[in-house]
Amino acid sequence: MSHRMKLLPPNRAVRLANRTCPYCGVDETERHPFTVEHVVGRRFVPKGSLNKSWALIVRACEACNAIKSDLEDDISAITLQPHIGDRHNDPLLHAEASRKAKGSISRRTKKVIGESHEQTSIEGKIMSAIDVKFEMISPPQLIEKRVHELANMHLQGFFYLMSYNEQERRGGFLPGPVGFVANANRPDWGNPLLRAFAQMTAAWPQQLDCICASGFFKLAMRRETETSPLWSFAIEWNGNHRIVGFFGDLVQAQAYVNAMPDLQWKQWNAGTRYRIEIPLEPEHDLLFASRFSEAES
Ligand SMILES: [Zn+2]
Repeated sequence: MSHRMKLLPPNRAVRLANRTCPYCGVDETERHPFTVEHVVGRRFVPKGSLNKSWALIVRACEACNAIKSDLEDDISAITLQPHIGDRHNDPLLHAEASRKAKGSISRRTKKVIGESHEQTSIEGKIMSAIDVKFEMISPPQLIEKRVHELANMHLQGFFYLMSYNEQERRGGFLPGPVGFVANANRPDWGNPLLRAFAQMTAAWPQQLDCICASGFFKLAMRRETETSPLWSFAIEWNGNHRIVGFFGDLVQAQAYVNAMPDLQWKQWNAGTRYRIEIPLEPEHDLLFASRFSEAES
């Protein structure tokens, strides 16, 4: 089956009349009623950003729909918060981030997102002579497992579209498991691991490059060659968090992973390590080629 990029109509939604759930594959029956499912959730990205945007609307079983809305709830609220020392210039975005900070519960701290800043105390010795102790405040944190679960659903939703058969009204599944290589918040998009990943896969033939919701959602898929069983992906949520990795033949992916640099953690003591975040210069940003971006449509 070919998964070549389908031409997507600009500035409006693609709606599938699919008969199988894109996420779990169940057929629609009375026992498994389907419901309308926005693969990029309307409440996941800032309000109104999907108006006049390309979007993917499918039908999914109620169970998967509920799982995905729950994942989107706190992940949206956290990724819409400005980074420490920053604020949103857009007043609407600022208002929405504040509203979500009060309305969504962090699955980590069990408190609302706005009260989920976490304090870490670091104690140790520098050069084994100078005692240090300092406190670090970190922004509300995503739970890695939930990040992976939602990224998986986004990848599967878009792959379902790419492999969709109009006659049978069903799409296919990702050709193998997903292996996550790295994820990072915006202040750290220039870290050596993310940059090495982008450089290694930059020349791979592109299969999908979706930038929608005024840029608040991005997803790109590449394939090692047009016939390779190995694919790479990159996802960006709300201009804030990036996730990259491979899917398909992960044994083949291992050779690439082995060639990637370490993140160069520095060790305070046995239990604490730290690393300086490295921002990404826009001219070094290779992950999303935006060949099909809204800007050009
Ligand atoms: Zn399902």
